Amino acid sequence: MASSSAKLHSDLSALPLGIHTLRFKTQRVGFNAFVWKGNPGPVVLINGATHGDEYEGPTLLSQWAQSWRPSRLNGTVVAVPILNEAAFFAGSRCTPSDDGNLARAFPGKKNGSDTSQLAHLFDTQLLAQCTHYVDLHSAGAAYELLPWVGFLSSKDKVGRAQRAMAACFDRFWCWSGPFLPGRTLSAAHARNIPAVYVECRGAGGVHPKDLRALHLGLRQLLRWSGVVSGPLKTLRPQKFRESSDSQEAHLQVHHPAPHHGLFIPDPTARIGAKIKSKQILGAVLPTDSGAPSPILAERTGTIVMLRRQRSVSLGDALCTIAPM
Ligand SMILES: [Zn+2]
Repeated sequence: MASSSAKLHSDLSALPLGIHTLRFKTQRVGFNAFVWKGNPGPVVLINGATHGDEYEGPTLLSQWAQSWRPSRLNGTVVAVPILNEAAFFAGSRCTPSDDGNLARAFPGKKNGSDTSQLAHLFDTQLLAQCTHYVDLHSAGAAYELLPWVGFLSSKDKVGRAQRAMAACFDRFWCWSGPFLPGRTLSAAHARNIPAVYVECRGAGGVHPKDLRALHLGLRQLLRWSGVVSGPLKTLRPQKFRESSDSQEAHLQVHHPAPHHGLFIPDPTARIGAKIKSKQILGAVLPTDSGAPSPILAERTGTIVMLRRQRSVSLGDALCTIAPM
């Protein structure tokens, strides 16, 4: 069910077969979409750079736009390599003009802030036309993470489709959790569209291993959906965690910096390391002569995200530990 309706700038079902580059825009914001239009069938929408400092999605989808020339598709693939262009070109997570986090702005407003308009444009023009959705994220410039795929848990048909979509990314572990508002996935949820997000390593770059894993996962998903013909490969077993705590995978709330300063992680605090509750993760040193503040693990588990940028402001998240 559509959460809102708007006049379509470009009706994908009316496009001729072939590859198209479309520009979706308002007076203030816009993005490019590459469309591989095939025969009638599922419409798989994939985007990168919901956050501007995350480069794996933009890199892979731009490479696909340059080189992927399938001879036949039983459906349509839509790729938006760079959704938040202003943030991307500023090298920042959020939109520079209003400091808005696009991943908290959905479904957005037609006449809202730039971030809100962008959310509304993407929701009404592309999410409204797709049958499956994948949002490609990463840890961004300031963090590094243990790559995973995730979705909003539900027990219905959409939930089962999401679990199957997530399993396609068999080189990533899987983390599902309760509904959170404002996300691209929340907007897909409102439209009953199965959706997953992928988190790659980040740390300001693009790891070749992540790019390969992402490519293989997306190609498997396209075969699973039926858009691309061909046998499904046998998937590797995937480590799976379903959380009932909406804050568990909310990366911005864990181990907040107690004050401004310099974060020095402990040598034992590494991505993928097993950590015990109260174990030292590192310390924040004030920039004056004050005493360092030790950062203690809030729970036992595995470090799945860690701050890489050493300058920190009050409240910046330093680490996420998944209880697994
Ligand atoms: Zn992101």
